Amino acid sequence: MQPVNIPFNKPYMTGRELWYIAQAHANGHLAGDGAFTKKCHSWLEKRTGADTALLTHSCTAALEIAALLIDIKPGDEIIMPSYTFVSTANAFVLRGGVPVFVDIRPDTLNINEGLIEQAITPRTKAIVPVHYAGVPCEMDVIMDIAHRHNLFVIEDAAQGIMSTYNGKPLGSIGHFGCLSFHETKNIISGEGGALLVNDESLALRAEIIREKGTNRSQFFRGQVDKYTWCDVGSSYLPGELIAAFLWAQMEAADEITTKRLDIWNKYHASFVGLEQRGLVRRPIVPDNATHNAHMYYLLLSDLATRTRFIEFLKEKKISSVFHYVPLHSAPAGLRLGRFNEALTITDAMSEKLVRLPLWIGLEEYQDEVIKTIYSFFEDAK
Ligand SMILES: *Cc1c(COP(=O)(O)O)cnc(C)c1O
Repeated sequence: MQPVNIPFNKPYMTGRELWYIAQAHANGHLAGDGAFTKKCHSWLEKRTGADTALLTHSCTAALEIAALLIDIKPGDEIIMPSYTFVSTANAFVLRGGVPVFVDIRPDTLNINEGLIEQAITPRTKAIVPVHYAGVPCEMDVIMDIAHRHNLFVIEDAAQGIMSTYNGKPLGSIGHFGCLSFHETKNIISGEGGALLVNDESLALRAEIIREKGTNRSQFFRGQVDKYTWCDVGSSYLPGELIAAFLWAQMEAADEITTKRLDIWNKYHASFVGLEQRGLVRRPIVPDNATHNAHMYYLLLSDLATRTRFIEFLKEKKISSVFHYVPLHSAPAGLRLGRFNEALTITDAMSEKLVRLPLWIGLEEYQDEVIKTIYSFFEDAK
């Protein structure tokens, strides 16, 4: 028998997405901010404790709104990890901001909070911690630095929905949190995202920027008798069909997280043996955190081993992937960003990390994936 292809990701659908889309269709309100968008906003506000949640087209769009909200001007500096997706930097670069890259911690692969303070200059405007793999950054330390230096904190919580740090949901701790509902994330709508605004005084302006720089949201609430151009802005709100799809996912968020955690925990228990033999390092989740099983990765001994590992799995029809090319070493990062120290942990980890398939439905094939990974190391002896 031909072995089945085991993809790296397969978007999970709850079965109710089309039903809610049909309802949105029947409601006849297809633009943004209809009934389904409101349900999603309330759910996010309730589950995260954010003052205001606003759906956007993507996490990228949410980061762009945040950059507008903190008035990034050419030359302003934004401290962030280099080990992240391009949007973390691009949202600020679009406004002329300069990403200042700081190295990551070897345990969680999150920004090393101990290196942030030395990267601060008079031009520094914000810190953007990225919660890699849905595992939290050291937010108490980061918030303390931000308060002492009068900086904004924008959490890139693209991977962080349903995770907590000291009991607080990710995205609800900084001034802003940015979530992604891209189909590779846990809770999805194809493309999609949300901005969490945790400071009440910034919420009204966030609404205006998201609605093309107008006070249309206030107009719909009956707070003003006409709407008009008030500020800079763009069109950042998704239509109702997307919100309807997303609502089906939000309703199932606990179930989705539990199922993903079961798969994550099985991988984690299975690879103890490989870790004990020094062949891999497994992910590390700090005691003060709960995570959402966004990602399962292994750290291999070096780049050559990782290349052989991915190739070996591919021959057995199992898809595994690596990421990221660190931003400080990418062509645009070299041109548009800055870094003071050598980013040695970032460079080392980015060569060793491999992500394993993790999607609901993998349960049926997971034993085979684990067995194949063990056989790679047996063959390698
Ligand atoms: C996925 C991701 C993004 C971008 O999310 P989109 O919704 O695709 O714009 C940004 N940052 C990180 C860390 C991500 O993983």
